[in-house]
Amino acid sequence: MKISIKGVVVKEVNYGESDKILTVLTAEDGIISVIAKRCRNLKNKSGASPQLLSYCSFLLYESKRGYIVNECEVIEVFWGVINDLKTLSLAQYFCELTLVLSPESPNSADFLKLFLNCIFYLSNKNKDMLLIKSIFEMRSMSLCGYIPNLVSCNKCKKYNPERIKFFISRGIIVCTDCSKKYLIGGHDIAPGVLFALRHIIYSPSEKLFSFKISDECLKKLSAISEKYVIYHLDTDFKSLKFYKSLY
Ligand SMILES: [Zn+2]
Repeated sequence: MKISIKGVVVKEVNYGESDKILTVLTAEDGIISVIAKRCRNLKNKSGASPQLLSYCSFLLYESKRGYIVNECEVIEVFWGVINDLKTLSLAQYFCELTLVLSPESPNSADFLKLFLNCIFYLSNKNKDMLLIKSIFEMRSMSLCGYIPNLVSCNKCKKYNPERIKFFISRGIIVCTDCSKKYLIGGHDIAPGVLFALRHIIYSPSEKLFSFKISDECLKKLSAISEKYVIYHLDTDFKSLKFYKSLY
């Protein structure tokens, strides 16, 4: 039986002389691995063969060794990302994060949409990379079960954005009054950063990228989003280290 599926390649490993094992993020089945025999020959009309970050339509058949690519049409190659080392390294971090989070159906459909939108904006270079990075980090974490509760103070249930601390380890916010009584530590969080975090986590996907943030708040947002990922996933992201080494 042949299976038709669309997805974006998030990992590629050379296999034999011209074969590749591709790891693909799909809407329906989350992450799947497919074997692309004579991968360089799987070119479409524009001459592109499937590679890291290309969005493809696959026709697969199942063998004892797993899914084999029968046909592949490359729908989109994000040249603006691939041809720039900084955006490529950030996109590789998104791939690594995707593999660690390993989204499953039904959330994989939203995850794929998020991934493609972030890569699209990276490719077009009309939004700040730090903003795209924070959006991908916090939204992908939220889709995969690491959603923080930023609705109101975890203790008194009041919401005063001027006086809030964010507790990364517990994924909660606590007002400064309650934190004095109950909890030590936490990150003081500026109202602009809290607004951005709430927008990234709670807004519908069609409005996800449409908000404004000052440069100062964006730096803080970026730092806190990255801390949130590293704390909860406890992973040494090589691509993130490389991306940061470029600055
Ligand atoms: Zn409180």
